[in-house]
Amino acid sequence: MPETNINENLSKILGQIRECEKNAGRSMGSVSLVAVSKFHPAEIVISAIDAGQKIFGENRVQEAAEKFDFIRESGFSPELHIIGSLQRNKVKTAVRIAQCIESVDRLELIEEIEKQCAKIGKTIDVLFEIHTGEESKAGFTSEESLLEVISNCNQGVYPHIKPKGFMTMAPNTTDKEQVRASFRTLRLLREKMQSQFQNLDLRELSMGMSGDFPIAIEEGATIVRVGTAIFGERDYSK
Ligand SMILES: *Cc1c(COP(=O)(O)O)cnc(C)c1O
Repeated sequence: MPETNINENLSKILGQIRECEKNAGRSMGSVSLVAVSKFHPAEIVISAIDAGQKIFGENRVQEAAEKFDFIRESGFSPELHIIGSLQRNKVKTAVRIAQCIESVDRLELIEEIEKQCAKIGKTIDVLFEIHTGEESKAGFTSEESLLEVISNCNQGVYPHIKPKGFMTMAPNTTDKEQVRASFRTLRLLREKMQSQFQNLDLRELSMGMSGDFPIAIEEGATIVRVGTAIFGERDYSK
């Protein structure tokens, strides 16, 4: 395997993000980078921290807990976002280790997050994951169930939860227009929900990965989640 130069990859991606912001007429720094470190060991995360990266994304809670407990015990303070589908029995660990859960996709989950946060007196950020493309399975599929959760938030039902916006995964296709349509769906949904719930701050749009983040930024992404382009290919056999 060729040596991955994390420092170099990170500066390249950050450069591309700044370039896309500029081309889209967006202000510099309006898009933040979540470095997706799933399947890569703690040492690799630490080299990204040394290179200046502050926010990381993981999709499996158990793996994330082992890795990020070790990293924090080693004296580093990265921010962690959980980005993968979350089972109820993993919520306790997830809220302990993460600053944000980007993959809230059902009422039962947000209730469990509130319960576990209340127990440890922690407030956590959440994004609502929305199903916007045919091939992806995750995310809210009905506006009705999403509305129920957001209006609960609006009414103060979850005092330990700060809703911040929305997340989606575009379909895994080379058809750029289909990808763009998926991102646009998320942006329009955000606008609609924000105007309906003006007391909430639903500004974040987490969309775009290694293969499609430039399109996501054109469509208004405020957070991009990039793994492979920073850390190289993942070895799923491990
Ligand atoms: C793995 C993953 C990413 C990063 O994907 P890359 O193609 O490696 O950049 C982004 N978002 C989610 C939800 C993921 O699971």
